[in-house]
Amino acid sequence: MLVAAGTAIQSETERGRQMTDMLADDPTVSLNDYWFEFYVNQGLCSLCGNTGVIDTTGVKTPAGVEVGRKNWCICPNGQAMRREHYETKGHHRS
Ligand SMILES: [Zn+2]
Repeated sequence: MLVAAGTAIQSETERGRQMTDMLADDPTVSLNDYWFEFYVNQGLCSLCGNTGVIDTTGVKTPAGVEVGRKNWCICPNGQAMRREHYETKGHHRS
């Protein structure tokens, strides 16, 4: 289930990958604090419902441009799933 969800997520930019690594390795970067401050509801992630994936497939701009897709959530679950997907499953990051 984890792998199936991960394989459907689109690749990221190099900047996005660098930011993910910084957030994982640098304790001064406080995405988790930001997430906890704004995106926790009843102890759970209000973005993904603790699944680690945000699926906006079908979302369009007011002009009709399709911008939706599946993304790893910014919450600790999503971050861990992203790392696990790319590092332990041997997937390339491109
Ligand atoms: Zn989440």
